[in-house]
Amino acid sequence: MIKQQQLAILNKEMHKQCRCALKKTATNVVAGSGSADAQIFFVGEAPGKKEDAVGEPFIGAAGKMLSDLLLSINVQRDDVYITNVVKYRPPQNRDPLPQEIEACWPWLCQQVQLINPKLIVPLGRHALERFVPGQKISEAHGRVFHRAVEGLGMRTYYALYHPAAALYNGSLRETLFADIGRIPDILEELKTEKHSL
Ligand code: URA
Repeated sequence: MIKQQQLAILNKEMHKQCRCALKKTATNVVAGSGSADAQIFFVGEAPGKKEDAVGEPFIGAAGKMLSDLLLSINVQRDDVYITNVVKYRPPQNRDPLPQEIEACWPWLCQQVQLINPKLIVPLGRHALERFVPGQKISEAHGRVFHRAVEGLGMRTYYALYHPAAALYNGSLRETLFADIGRIPDILEELKTEKHSL
């Protein structure tokens, strides 16, 4: 079976088996979208209203910003994988609770294991905290972290501000574009590091 089919099966199982309490109030599971062969794996916070209605991540205003950011490095949405730490919309778009993040974690973990991306990009503080705890996004953005996370082994993370944070803040927008602009070089560096191992 090819990886894309395995991913589709995993994402279907997610809705049947996920124990997240947000399932009760959400319309759809928002499992993730993109390529099972993605080198870059983006992880946001939680689906918003539009994402909940359609079942796709990042399709509202923050999603448009994410698409623009990807275009700036000549990458299509279909080439990467995009998902969230929480797979269901929190009511009124409130912050996800720790127990909701933990209930969705096994699914996020399996998505990472299956896709096996070269680079995981946490978008904003909630995703960052799950992969690289104890960091402030204002200090961690634009930095690479090599670390082991339980269930995922040793992986490389590159922190970015959440695209929604940059919607109405020109200087954050500039920072976000500058930070994402480093991704092609980081991927190149990772290849060289692997060769020298
Ligand atoms: N914000 C997120 O963090 N995720 C989405 O899917 C949409 C907006």
